[in-house]
Amino acid sequence: MAIMETDTTASLTKSNKIIDLHCHLIPGIDDGSPDLEHSLELAHQAVAEGITHILATPHHLDGDYVNHRDDVIKHVTDFQRELDHHGIPLVIFPGQEVHINGDLTEKYDDLLGIDEDKKYMLIEFPHGSVPAYAKRLFFELRKLGTTPVIVHPERNHEIQGDLNLLYDFIADGALSQLTATSYVGGFGEKVQHISEQLVEHNLVQIFASDAHALKGRSFALREAFMKLRTELGQTEVDEFEGNAENLLNGMPVFARDYSRVDKKKKFWLF
Ligand code: FE
Repeated sequence: MAIMETDTTASLTKSNKIIDLHCHLIPGIDDGSPDLEHSLELAHQAVAEGITHILATPHHLDGDYVNHRDDVIKHVTDFQRELDHHGIPLVIFPGQEVHINGDLTEKYDDLLGIDEDKKYMLIEFPHGSVPAYAKRLFFELRKLGTTPVIVHPERNHEIQGDLNLLYDFIADGALSQLTATSYVGGFGEKVQHISEQLVEHNLVQIFASDAHALKGRSFALREAFMKLRTELGQTEVDEFEGNAENLLNGMPVFARDYSRVDKKKKFWLF
């Protein structure tokens, strides 16, 4: 059904662009793509999904990986050259998935934002918890002119237990990024249900792939946008896609009124 596929991709977003702001496709610098061949395959797959622009976001300061600002810029320049050489129509920008640390502001000069002016920055929490100092740190980042964008809140165990923890960060001016694979069920039913709740309550403003590898951790962005279109509508798809573009350009995002998530109703036994 190649014709239908082409039609779906072309009409998926109003801008005809799909921008992926979270992706580990630079070869050999974190737990993403292991080598250039794999990276080029990932790039082919991204293009096949209709993705036009990718922010390369290697892990930084997560205890396993350090990817300094200048090194990432160099890696991205080299990889872009490879893409151009292979005729793959994809534009790559340098970024980082910055792991939260209490002293991030002291390392600020070595950090990359989503946009060139660091108006937005991807911030990762530990998988198990939300650090007590996160609120203070976010305040300090905002004082420096940077709005934190919390990556994959749907996969954080503490937020999974109380989605209103995310509400509090959004109410304080942060943004958040849902992983496309989570929304379409790739991390299981629980994470999918949480993802749907976060979308429903407007607690996430963008989708991104967080793609690491061809198998298991791939893009799923087109599938996520198609599900969003089916369940909520084209307007939501265009808002999410438009927000990704605005973040990359350091422009204001479109944020709908967000709301708290009601806790599960309790059934009392007498
Ligand atoms: Fe990531």
